[in-house]
Amino acid sequence: MALHPNVDPDKILEKAHHVQDGMDISGHWNRMFEQRVIRDYTPELLDKVTALSGGESLGWCYQCAQCVPVCPVDAVGSYGPRKIFRRTQTGADLFASPDLWQCTTCMNCLRVCPKEVDMIQIMPAVREQAVLAGNVPDELQKAFENTSSYGNPLGESPKKRAAWTTRSKAPVPLMKEKKRAELLWFVECYPSYHPRGIDASLALARVLNHLGVDFGILGNDERCSCDSQRLAGEVGLFEECAEHNIKQLQRYQTERVLVTDPHALNAFRREYPRLGGEFETIHYTTFLADRMAELGMSRPLGVKVTFHDPCYLGRHHGEYDAPRRMLRAIPGVELLEMGRCRENSYCCGGGGGGMWLDGFMSDHVNMRLSENRVVEAVETGADVLAVCCPLEVSRFEDAVKSQGCEGKLVVKDIIELVVEAMGPDNDS
Ligand code: SF4
Ligand code: SF4
Repeated sequence: MALHPNVDPDKILEKAHHVQDGMDISGHWNRMFEQRVIRDYTPELLDKVTALSGGESLGWCYQCAQCVPVCPVDAVGSYGPRKIFRRTQTGADLFASPDLWQCTTCMNCLRVCPKEVDMIQIMPAVREQAVLAGNVPDELQKAFENTSSYGNPLGESPKKRAAWTTRSKAPVPLMKEKKRAELLWFVECYPSYHPRGIDASLALARVLNHLGVDFGILGNDERCSCDSQRLAGEVGLFEECAEHNIKQLQRYQTERVLVTDPHALNAFRREYPRLGGEFETIHYTTFLADRMAELGMSRPLGVKVTFHDPCYLGRHHGEYDAPRRMLRAIPGVELLEMGRCRENSYCCGGGGGGMWLDGFMSDHVNMRLSENRVVEAVETGADVLAVCCPLEVSRFEDAVKSQGCEGKLVVKDIIELVVEAMGPDNDS
């Protein structure tokens, strides 16, 4: 092949192939790497992270890059554990960097990382220090303050936590009146206060009554499970809320806790036990998947549906099938999968405190994660994007609007589709 006229053949170090023991080891193999500038290495910044309990595994990264293509933030920006390790190694202080707040703790990197670099431990550990130093983005700080003052990140009155039940045709009993119940439904904040969360709560109340389930709720005695605040670094606030909830739950006799929020599922299964709260906890999709035939769904919906796996139900707790079994059992639903689904599902951007960081994130990504996901959902040709995490309904509905997809895609909780198929005359 002829050389470019501007290239001096004498300056090409790798002009000839150098073969040794039958193996080509010419210099051109190294062109894919930049020269390592050892003097840029700043071990003290990496040591600051790895010295923390939970931060150790950042030091195990060997730059294989498997994590980058699966990171949902990298898909819309520049992120992933490999990049964070390298930036920290070459002079960026993670404690003061915008990188600290972008991870949603979705766990997709840990799924593929051969060295088990664990962002679900690293990020909360470093964020905890940033919170103690008062270095927190304003909107996240507001969510922390709301949770501390009102028991929910929305800043709603704790006295109105059970107000949604007055709109329910089906009874929603309080545990303080029942004292014992087969299931204690831990409703959580967005299903108690957000208008679209309430829609799903009303639907679930109807379904539980139709099935004759013996259940009760804590009502105004419930506080945020606080798992996302913990992952965002507010450990003290998490412990305060967790201890309150555990105390309330221990007042009553119940076999299981039922949750609609996968983040509450994570708190109850992984975090509350170390604070003395051992409760068998189940997500509503797992509870209902086997009982769909009992619901008398006689109204075929005639819709194409795609399903978004919540990170904290799927990757964190391994439940991929129950939501799909529910959807397949609804008459007139055709399930279409997105390219990224199940173990490799994309993240809505709401986890790990991301729910309260959209303004901050807009300076660091070219589109919201929820917007990227809505585009993927539209590409399937589905009419409905089905969800089963209360953080997702509002995130995806906003994204549908911002992406100009109104009229093409609607966002619904699976339980809303169930009651639609039960029909208006099928009230419990
Ligand atoms: S997959 Fe793990 S070891 Fe490989 S670059 Fe990412 S964090 Fe580092
Ligand atoms: S946990 Fe998710 S968002 Fe965070 S770095 Fe890993 S892949 Fe990216």
